[in-house]
Amino acid sequence: MTHRVAIVGAGPSGFYAADGLLRANPELRIDIIDRLPTPHGLVRAGVAPDHQGTKAVARQFDRLLAQPDVRFAGNLEIGRDLTWDELRAAYDAVIVATGMVIDRKLGVPGEAEPLVWGSWRFVAWLNGHPDFRQGPDLSAVRRVAVIGNGNVALDVARLLAKSAEEMAKSDIVPAAAAAIAAAPLTDIHVIGRRGPEHASFTGNELGEMGRLARAVSVTDAAALGGQPPASDPTPERLRKAKNLEILKGFAGNTPGSKPVTVHFRFNAAPVAVRPGELELTTGVLPVDLSITCIGYTGEPFPTGEGVFAVGWARRGPSGTIPTNRGDSHAVAQQVAAWLKQRDPKSGPDPLPPCVNAAGWHRINKAETAAGAAQGRPRVKLTEWPALLEVARES
Ligand code: NAP
Repeated sequence: MTHRVAIVGAGPSGFYAADGLLRANPELRIDIIDRLPTPHGLVRAGVAPDHQGTKAVARQFDRLLAQPDVRFAGNLEIGRDLTWDELRAAYDAVIVATGMVIDRKLGVPGEAEPLVWGSWRFVAWLNGHPDFRQGPDLSAVRRVAVIGNGNVALDVARLLAKSAEEMAKSDIVPAAAAAIAAAPLTDIHVIGRRGPEHASFTGNELGEMGRLARAVSVTDAAALGGQPPASDPTPERLRKAKNLEILKGFAGNTPGSKPVTVHFRFNAAPVAVRPGELELTTGVLPVDLSITCIGYTGEPFPTGEGVFAVGWARRGPSGTIPTNRGDSHAVAQQVAAWLKQRDPKSGPDPLPPCVNAAGWHRINKAETAAGAAQGRPRVKLTEWPALLEVARES
């Protein structure tokens, strides 16, 4: 008998936890459970569809699913198909890797759809998440406020600013790509509540904003006089200094020199949202849509003996995909050590019928074949019935 571990959440932190468990003890039997019929979590639904290099990590995750004692259990929702108590009773350990998928709120008057969209909902729409098939109506949107100064804000601004040609090799869902291409967009305002010396952008992502075909990035040189806080560790100071250097380049650009202008605005906190305008502490900005990129929260999950958490569910919504590798591996080692001191439980296979790895491979094959016909990495299936039907086909 060997120990059985359930990992709830088939995103990066869940897969890295499985990888860490197998490194610690190759004998373990691991079930990676997800409420969606597709694995990869944030890599599929959250990473920007034009960042295919980042999405390539999914291939490593799929290799794990080829291991004999690793199973994917998709379309299986804890709380609906199995209770947390049943899960804990059936498995020797449970690892919660559910991430954080609820948009944080600004908490200002007027904050509601259709005037304000959260970045999770917005990016999930672009990425074909079956629960977010409806995006904002962009047909009359000329000016957008992107609120926040992290890499998600840059993703959102870039995805709006890129031309259809620049998105052609991405796996953005065609309806969303068409809506963006048809929108009469002229101005995107990326808004930070603090100065640029505090922004959490990283250099590669900010630099990309200076190389867009149909958009020019601009900022006010007067905002760039600050210095990264001396108390920051050296890598942080270097990252922020690099940001300031890139922004200085943007300050020399001419607004309106390309069809879309991306304005980086700092020291401006949202106060209220009204149709056609966003009130900031610095004044009123005419905008047709605001997209908040200010972080995420998650659903609470039961804790207790034998339950461990990894990734954003454990640490909160910060850190890139590689950050989760080290984090999940460390927790996996703890889990493996903890299991060593316990006898394996016995009992029947706890998994109800669900989408297994073969089902996911069928979805994957259908999507990549549809993509190949258009010279794109994939065209996603975005509807629950279609996903389940393709997964079931033999
Ligand atoms: P983030 O880096 O924590 O940025 C959140 C931003 O929201 C901050 O600028 C924060 O400002 C601002 N904010 C929070 N509350 C606000 C409010 N009430 N009003 C106005 N602004 C507010 O988080 P993220 O952009 O969501 O990214 C999450 C993680 O994923 C990060 O580690 C990021 O690097 C990573 N990521 C990486 C990539 C990539 O590598 N390409 C892409 C996407 C995401 P303050 O600083 O003032 O709090």
